[in-house]
Amino acid sequence: MIHAGGCHCGKVRFEVDMELNKAMACDCTICTKRGSLLAFVPTTKFNVLSGEEDLKVYLFNKKVIEHKFCTTCGILPFGLGAAPDGTKMAAINVRCLDGFTMDQVTVFNHKHDH
Ligand SMILES: [Zn+2]
Repeated sequence: MIHAGGCHCGKVRFEVDMELNKAMACDCTICTKRGSLLAFVPTTKFNVLSGEEDLKVYLFNKKVIEHKFCTTCGILPFGLGAAPDGTKMAAINVRCLDGFTMDQVTVFNHKHDH
């Protein structure tokens, strides 16, 4: 199923093909502060429709995940990285999907081993 989403000001818009039924509350330092809920899809099922030029990349820790945020409104709609097998993945902040409500997903916690 195709879901559309974007940042708050509307400059950044994207489309993702996935089942929306669960989302991960990650315990990393940035997700904790952001309050993001993540769903992971291969980048082949993810498309940035507009606003690519308004996105800035934030890197921290091992700098393997590109945390993309809108330079106008500051919202981070998604991040880009790679699965352990090398597949390029997008981490979608499901809170940025159009019309998102918490009853659409079961939230599970992810604890890093650190
Ligand atoms: Zn924005």
